[in-house]
Amino acid sequence: VFYLSSPMRFGDLPIEVIRSIASFIGWLCLTPVCRRFWQALRLKCIRRVKEPPSIALFEKALCHGVISITFQLKGCDTEPRLTTTQLAPLTILSQSTTLNFLTLHFPNHNLGNGGCTQIASLAQCRSLTSLSIDLTFNSINDLGAHELQALRTLPHLMQLNIDLKENEIGNGGVKGLVQLYNLPSLTNCSLGLAYNIFDCEGVKFLCEVPQPPKLRSLTLDLTGNAIDDDGIQHLCALRLVPTLTALHLNLSNVDLSEEAMQMLGGFADCSLQHLNLNLGQSNIDDEGLKYISTLRNATHLQSLSLNVMENCVGTEGLRYLRALAQIDSLKTLTLCLSSVTHMADVVSDDDIFPGNLIVSDLATPLNLATNLQCLHLCLKDTGIDDKGAYILADSISKATHLRRLNLCLIGNLLTVKGCTFLRDSFIKATWLQSLCAYLKDNEFRPSDANKLDVQQQSPTSTSICTQADESDVQEQTQDQQKQDCWLLDGLQLPHKQIDFVTNYCECCGVESDSELSDTDADDDDESLEPDSTSSDADSQNGDDHSLGED
Ligand SMILES: [Zn+2]
Ligand SMILES: [Zn+2]
Repeated sequence: VFYLSSPMRFGDLPIEVIRSIASFIGWLCLTPVCRRFWQALRLKCIRRVKEPPSIALFEKALCHGVISITFQLKGCDTEPRLTTTQLAPLTILSQSTTLNFLTLHFPNHNLGNGGCTQIASLAQCRSLTSLSIDLTFNSINDLGAHELQALRTLPHLMQLNIDLKENEIGNGGVKGLVQLYNLPSLTNCSLGLAYNIFDCEGVKFLCEVPQPPKLRSLTLDLTGNAIDDDGIQHLCALRLVPTLTALHLNLSNVDLSEEAMQMLGGFADCSLQHLNLNLGQSNIDDEGLKYISTLRNATHLQSLSLNVMENCVGTEGLRYLRALAQIDSLKTLTLCLSSVTHMADVVSDDDIFPGNLIVSDLATPLNLATNLQCLHLCLKDTGIDDKGAYILADSISKATHLRRLNLCLIGNLLTVKGCTFLRDSFIKATWLQSLCAYLKDNEFRPSDANKLDVQQQSPTSTSICTQADESDVQEQTQDQQKQDCWLLDGLQLPHKQIDFVTNYCECCGVESDSELSDTDADDDDESLEPDSTSSDADSQNGDDHSLGED
């Protein structure tokens, strides 16, 4: 209730804060408390999407004890890019004693190594607990990476994300960056090193984790680097880090040999609880999947995410993937098969739909893996038609063990008929607590809904995205837009959980991110100004302070 009536958006707060107040949602009697808390929080958070850092802003932040600052400023060809000197005000923040969360996302600005030096000045900010830096495509080389290692003295940092995708970091730079593992309080660390210039030696440095006392979650994005079997072998050493419970390895666009796959299968033999392997575009085949399926023997895994997008698989390979759903301890499985080609398609005549084969080869894990509670199945762009939808629908209506289902069928060949199969199975699946279906870019139009005899019942809030085509939808009146949700009408899921965060499938919807930030920008500039859009409740309180007034 309270977040809907507030002019500030939920997503503006750090996720930790959202988590801690989320449990109040829905308790009407607590709403006034939440509102006051919310207003207090608004004064402690600064979010700037389109402006560079400024001395005035930071001085204000210092004097008001701001706890969270977010900058998201993406460089593009049409707007002037940030210069290194524009980051100089960051030094002021090192004096803060209250700042916990800092996000500095400056992709595509050509900041160079100097940008890293400016950011490294934050090493004196003792209050920081969470730091997220995005310096994608900024002409940074080993020197810049060495500058960033100054951050290893931050005494209370628990969460560190550094994205250095598309720079020129070599083995020496990686060696510098891994010094950050030494942060004394670090529990979550994410290093984005996609498309840089290091090789197997760099990977070796990355995996020599020097016994960090508290590191629980490690994410390494190594997309598109020159990593051979030796490199993969180094990566497998990570399974020996005793504190680690979650590991996310992005090896997409890295050629993976059968030996490499065999080594990755070795993660079955470790105490990891959460494993996320992105093996998209990696030239793996059924034989490779056979090796990875040894993960079937893992004893501690609670969640497994496997992305094999843009590879070619056959019936055998899908059988191996299916086996993964039956890991005894597994509760959550994410399988991304976006743009996967079925081997049968390569040799077959035109009338075989490869997507339907993928569905019929895979659909049974929905039914067989009775331990599984959460399933995210992404089948984007796989050529599934109504027949495939029927098979899927049939499996869903039998998978009584599932509690959460995310089903992505973006960019397939479903018509109204196929969607109706799915819709009917959703209605039957009363055991589902949460359901997201993504059906954008299929063969139906929102207006097709008229052809269906859909009973108009009370609107439901399960998130299902059915927009046939973005441009079409924009031209429509609101009434017509309502029809986009025709698939929802009549859904009667008990205890439905509203998924208000995701409008796009996690593994497919990258581009939607920037659009979101852009629209947010207009609303968010208010955080330090008097609240001009006060609702009734605000005016009743009458004591709305804001930093702007002081
Ligand atoms: Zn998807
Ligand atoms: Zn996907």
